[in-house]
Amino acid sequence: MKKADPASDNPAANTRKVFVKTYGCQMNVYDSQRMADALARDGFVETSTPDDADMVLLNTCHIREKAAEKVYSEIGRLRQLRARRQKAGADLMIGVAGCVAQAEGREIVARAPAVDFVIGPTTYHRLPDVVARARGGEKVVETEFAVEDKFEHLPEQQKRQVRSRGVTAFLTVQEGCDKFCTFCVVPYTRGAEVSRPVAQIVEEARRLVDAGVREITLLGQNVNAWHGEAQDGRQWGLGELLHELARIDGLARLRYTTSHPRDMDDALIAAHRDLDMLMPYLHLPVQAGSDRVLKAMNRKHTGDDYRRLVDRIRKARLDIALSGDFIVGFPGETDADFEDTMRIVRDVSYAQAFSFKYSPRPGTPGATMDGHVEETVKSERLQRLQALLGEQQAAFMKSLEGQEIAVLLEKPGRDAGQLVGRSPWLQPVICDETVGKIGDSVTVRIERASANSLISSEAANRRRAA
Ligand code: SAM
Ligand code: SF4
Repeated sequence: MKKADPASDNPAANTRKVFVKTYGCQMNVYDSQRMADALARDGFVETSTPDDADMVLLNTCHIREKAAEKVYSEIGRLRQLRARRQKAGADLMIGVAGCVAQAEGREIVARAPAVDFVIGPTTYHRLPDVVARARGGEKVVETEFAVEDKFEHLPEQQKRQVRSRGVTAFLTVQEGCDKFCTFCVVPYTRGAEVSRPVAQIVEEARRLVDAGVREITLLGQNVNAWHGEAQDGRQWGLGELLHELARIDGLARLRYTTSHPRDMDDALIAAHRDLDMLMPYLHLPVQAGSDRVLKAMNRKHTGDDYRRLVDRIRKARLDIALSGDFIVGFPGETDADFEDTMRIVRDVSYAQAFSFKYSPRPGTPGATMDGHVEETVKSERLQRLQALLGEQQAAFMKSLEGQEIAVLLEKPGRDAGQLVGRSPWLQPVICDETVGKIGDSVTVRIERASANSLISSEAANRRRAA
């Protein structure tokens, strides 16, 4: 059946609206933006609600079961929205992208016939073609790993679009993973590790800065495994790439995420020492503290390897703060193993962290291992771990009270006269508008820390005066 085309119903309206809903990590946020860029060439503009959209694109996450299930509930809601639209003589196209699309492919259209097309994360440069075929009535499932480089085929980001996204931007430099941790679906959904070429990354970074971006976060499933050939023929790692990007005029801050402990090489650690604009905040997941569990997870590092690495990084950059990821209840994890996780958290001390109950993912080795841990035990362990991580986060926030810190001003605040920026360690900082304008790097004194944000003295004064 040929789909009704809302734009062709009304010749005056030659733009269509797309609502992209993003689940999961920053890499999906970046992918959503690039998909919107690809669709812009086809006359689509982004909208912030499904209610006035001609197309809804769900950019999905498959990392844990809950994340994947959310997608099907959302498709159910969209099916109802489409039924209401059709009653009114219009239509709504529904697409599923991202890691659920890659992992489940055709199963999605079988389980949710309302879906018009499914597109995996390595092929989104083909989106305009996929949409055109779906509009012609075909149920398109485009989940083969693309041989051609999708970044070569994606349109350049337009200045207007970059500006609308603010003064901070993500830039994916590496995709996929060859590490095969036994709990993780990423090597199956994102494929083998691929690094983008140096020149392509530098060019994209320059364009972002040219459009007003002041902070760039380099992204990769395993970002510090990035490597590429420089113009002089030498192989660069992420440390050298950061040095090159730091030379771009107008760029104020650099970050990168997510790193694997095994890929923190000397040049990258030295970049933390030598580059002021590389923010002193590092997301370095350890996952667990027990060597037995780390081995079963195929992490290829021990708890002590990680402790030694953290010591070296902290020596290189005294003010660096760490964040991490933890999994509790991996198959075979005993009470003693879990105590090792608590011990490593106490030893390292994190400014922020993400912690999860182990979620068996179909097709990964962990799912078929012996010794699955009961849900109630996982919940108890997670609660204890999160309490400890929460205390450490609160202590870190408290330690900033009374200090003068650098803030990049990002957007207007909730109250009149406020601007919100970010600290070097990623906390939102509420500032007064008199300290500068959006895009400025300013220094403010922190008066108070709450659970998740910091308030500067000037903003606190204004509050008191109001
Ligand atoms: N590449 C990063 C690393 O090696 O640390 C991790 C990227 S992964 C997309 C994000 C986080 O999700 C992981 O660090 C892990 O803590 C968590 N995660 C992955 N698979 C999981 C699973 N099956 N169950 C629970 N948490 C999981
Ligand atoms: Fe997944 Fe990270 Fe392990 Fe790769 S290194 S398999 S992305 S957890």
